[in-house]
Amino acid sequence: MNPSCTAIQERMVAGESLGEADQAHVLACAGCSRLAADCLALDAIVADELDGTVTVPDGFADHVMRRLEAGSGRVGGWDDLLTRRWVQVVLANVGIAFAIVNLLRFVFSTLIPAASLGGVP
Ligand SMILES: [Zn+2]
Repeated sequence: MNPSCTAIQERMVAGESLGEADQAHVLACAGCSRLAADCLALDAIVADELDGTVTVPDGFADHVMRRLEAGSGRVGGWDDLLTRRWVQVVLANVGIAFAIVNLLRFVFSTLIPAASLGGVP
């Protein structure tokens, strides 16, 4: 493989067009002609794949949606309930309410017994 082979093969892979001298070299050189054939075969494979050899079976979307609904119905229970956003917000607010009540009880626990005994005017 001489240096011009490398340059020509790089241009073929990059998809650039070849001059007449380069085309003559590709026809004469075994390595370059093999690479050209490989490039053509690869292009043909890609074109075939893009033409839509992949077919979606009938009712595929309905089948997927049925599976998803069956899967979501199976979770249920406490795990499902505790991961819901509104349940978390409600539980957090209940915790905050208990904390505030405890704080107020602590603050007023020093005042209320003293007031009931008439110690604080
Ligand atoms: Zn060559």
